[in-house]
Amino acid sequence: MTSTLVGNRLAAVLACPRCRGYLDASLVCGACGPVGSRRGEQLDFGGFGESELKADALNRVKELVKTRFHKLYPAAIKVLSPVQDRRLITPFLNSFDLDRSLVADFGCGTHRRDERVICMDGGSYGNVDIVTDLRRLPLADDSLAGGISIAVLEHVPDPAAHIAEMRRVLRPGGRMLVFVPFMQPFHASPYDFQRYTEVGLREQFGAFEVLSVKVGAGPTSGMLWVLQEWLAMVLSFGSRRLYRAILPLTWVLSPLKLLDLLLAHHPMAAQAASGFVIEVRKPA
Ligand SMILES: [Zn+2]
Repeated sequence: MTSTLVGNRLAAVLACPRCRGYLDASLVCGACGPVGSRRGEQLDFGGFGESELKADALNRVKELVKTRFHKLYPAAIKVLSPVQDRRLITPFLNSFDLDRSLVADFGCGTHRRDERVICMDGGSYGNVDIVTDLRRLPLADDSLAGGISIAVLEHVPDPAAHIAEMRRVLRPGGRMLVFVPFMQPFHASPYDFQRYTEVGLREQFGAFEVLSVKVGAGPTSGMLWVLQEWLAMVLSFGSRRLYRAILPLTWVLSPLKLLDLLLAHHPMAAQAASGFVIEVRKPA
């Protein structure tokens, strides 16, 4: 469900995604005309097209599961995924007074991490408050106290445009927490374009003050996902169909990821980490 808590406070910061001008309650801009529509509590400014979501075979399955079982999907991923994420998101969200400060999830997918966080995504899942192109947010400049972007930037062709938009809508002193992958096999959602090293990530966020870069998922996760792909390829003898049948069986190895509860803290973990988490602040 979209959040009423969010809807009530959102009105003050909504702006036309095209000209940044005033938007009335029915999402009509004085200069551009109607730029969005309401579906219950959900504000739709146009997200992914159907064709974008159906481009990749694995992604088709993911979208079907996400749409039909949007509450179960995050839980299923948590168990079956070879990636052991460090618990960095909740402490970050708890560093804000969420009752008073606006914090948004830039590309929430089917997650709702807190009732008070604004859920934004290109997909119109049931939990999403604002369906939007994340490069053209319907939010005024300097309107948010904080934001998170979890495993989103690898899926967009132009991450710099997304990062610039994060910077625009954050208020000076506002903070973002961003997870990106380093050692992860290809995974479309609906696309997959890039990976980041620690220094590459700092470079991407050069317009911000970098507060920290941490290993977000450790080297066991990095190795395990590759190993699962490798096993499915070795055992499928060149058959794409067999590969697809075997890959889910390799998920039985996923609990090994728990080794990362220790290894993610190794001083050299960044060498082969599955992903990084960067925390940045918009300069005052
Ligand atoms: Zn406008």
